[in-house]
Amino acid sequence: MARHRNVRGYNYDDDFDDDDMYSHSVEDDYGISPATAAQFIYSKRGRHQSFSEPLEEEEDEDDDKSRAPSTALSPIDQARLFSCLDQMREVLGESVSEQIMTDAVLQCGFDAAKALDQIFKQESNTKKSGTQEATASERKGKARDVPSADTHIVPKIAKLTVSGNKQTMGFAVPSASTEVNGQNSITACTKGQTTDDAMEEADNSALSPASSNTSQVSEDLNSTPSQGKSSGKSKQKINIKEELEKRQGGKQLLNLVVIGHVDAGKSTLMGHLLYLLGHVNKRTMHKYEQESKKAGKASFAYAWVLDETGEERQRGVTMDVGMTKFETKRKVITLMDAPGHRDFIPNMITGAAQADVAILVVDASRGEFEAGFEAGGQTREHALLVRSLGVTQLAVVVNKMDQVNWQEERFREVTSKLGHFLKQAGFKDSDVSYIPTSGLSGENLAKKSEVNELKSWYKGPCLIDQIDLFKAPQRSIDKPFRLCASDVFKDQGSGFCVTGKIEAGYVQTGDRLQVMPPNETCSVKGITLHDEAVDWATAGDHVSLTLTGVDIIKINVGCVFCSLSEPIRACTRFRARVLLFNFDIPVTQGFPVIIHYQTISEPATIRKLISVLHKSTGEVVKKKPKCLTKGMNAIIELQTQRPVALELYKDFKELGRFMLRYSGSSIAAGVVTEIKE
Ligand code: GDP
Repeated sequence: MARHRNVRGYNYDDDFDDDDMYSHSVEDDYGISPATAAQFIYSKRGRHQSFSEPLEEEEDEDDDKSRAPSTALSPIDQARLFSCLDQMREVLGESVSEQIMTDAVLQCGFDAAKALDQIFKQESNTKKSGTQEATASERKGKARDVPSADTHIVPKIAKLTVSGNKQTMGFAVPSASTEVNGQNSITACTKGQTTDDAMEEADNSALSPASSNTSQVSEDLNSTPSQGKSSGKSKQKINIKEELEKRQGGKQLLNLVVIGHVDAGKSTLMGHLLYLLGHVNKRTMHKYEQESKKAGKASFAYAWVLDETGEERQRGVTMDVGMTKFETKRKVITLMDAPGHRDFIPNMITGAAQADVAILVVDASRGEFEAGFEAGGQTREHALLVRSLGVTQLAVVVNKMDQVNWQEERFREVTSKLGHFLKQAGFKDSDVSYIPTSGLSGENLAKKSEVNELKSWYKGPCLIDQIDLFKAPQRSIDKPFRLCASDVFKDQGSGFCVTGKIEAGYVQTGDRLQVMPPNETCSVKGITLHDEAVDWATAGDHVSLTLTGVDIIKINVGCVFCSLSEPIRACTRFRARVLLFNFDIPVTQGFPVIIHYQTISEPATIRKLISVLHKSTGEVVKKKPKCLTKGMNAIIELQTQRPVALELYKDFKELGRFMLRYSGSSIAAGVVTEIKE
């Protein structure tokens, strides 16, 4: 997007110039191809219409319903009715549903004037009685006579981009999760082949996280509880835990990323799910159907729900991660999508780094699953990538089951192959679920399938229920504030905006923050969460902060905003424990890499090879090795060209985890163990 400043100015093209590197399998080099990018584009950012008017669909239905009584009338009465309706419509416009008008006309013996009087009376009574739902729907003028049973299932949704542009419609549940007793999926992230052994040690030590860091904040937390109706000037401290409970209304926030091989059906699946949930009205869906038919791609209609902005994407630039919100029974889901740009991998890493859970879509069709899973496919690569970035819970969608006649046998074949691999990749069996679906026909997405062939053997939850079953991670709300900027832009008014996910702590309007690098301070003038101005936001929230007191020119994507009292450290030299992926070139001292960390990609060199570690015990096997080869666990020292703000993995898991890439291939996952200078 044009406004986006990729201030670090790293030319990702350099990273992707070598075409050869994409031809290898994950077994060979863990490379991720541009094709991956192409297929991961299951969502786009400019879907202005797609989710904007969920009530319109009902409008259509209601229109139909409202005409029902009229069909029971004699032709003459029908004509009288329509004439009255026309007269009334001139007065009322679209503000009252046709059903209400029809009822009034019938009750008033086809007298339009009387019917109007009756409606006005009803309306004022309704207002007096303060029935909020009624007034709201009348005022909107679109939700004509929406039956209450329907209204409650219309999910609230927001489409937000990290630019903070207002594109929201009706999203009213800003929430972050603090499932206090829930399992911390991020903290429990380190088992398995990818990052398991490498991180196990750090994981253990993380059980006693930066206790010194937390003390100040917990003091704050307990100090002055108040409703926090703050302006930038008169700031009152809030009791964040209490406020959060109130705000969430019982719903947990979950950040979800969808991954999988090209053509597995990701876009169709998620597009259809959103449609079934009511986020896309019938008219828009009809438009997609027509357009996709015209384009000779009728089967892509649902995919177009999410793939609407190809053009915009081509023009757009880099780091933005588009987000779509939808709700399940107990959760508010942020569905993350990465823009389909050549620098997609950094974007995917950014997206996955912010994800709590993932949906892995595989194609059940014969030959197709194998193509995605075997050499050259992205199924393994994506799964490894998200696992290495801390995602522990996975819903595997075995899609296109219609293509294999809903055969249980095929489902079992696919899941057993995948299960074996996912276990090796570090996913616990209990954190992986498998759901047979058809994204195209919509089976098993928003409700359990009615297809007999499937019903006969599959008794598990449908996709939306499975999403609901994900455990929300415990957010680090009682740690010092940390937010890594994913976008920096000038908005109207004074100051400027940064967007990003709050990784730890909380922020209130009026707070002063430190930015690392460049080690400047600034004030928070405003906070926008889900396109609504709020007084505070906390860990897990994707927010936009309006800042003053610092020059925008000094602020880059990747800068970490943190608490003044306990700032993050910026360094150019740090030590890390890394696990090397299957990568054929031996890694030696002086090896050039790109560090992908949160929202940044920074050139670096491997300054020292400190030691090789035993995979499971973590004991030093060899000191000062000459080179590292695939599968090894090692401690290395990295030197970046410019300062980066990092945390020790044991203190802040989210901010202590990174990926190393070389020449377009992911070569290692690492965790920060020591910050040098
Ligand atoms: P993506 O690249 O993973 O996002 O895949 P798409 O959603 O673009 O789908 C690729 C193709 O597979 C399209 O032609 C879809 O219509 C088709 N497709 C997706 N889901 C299903 C399904 O459940 N059954 C069948 N038969 N085709 C599907």
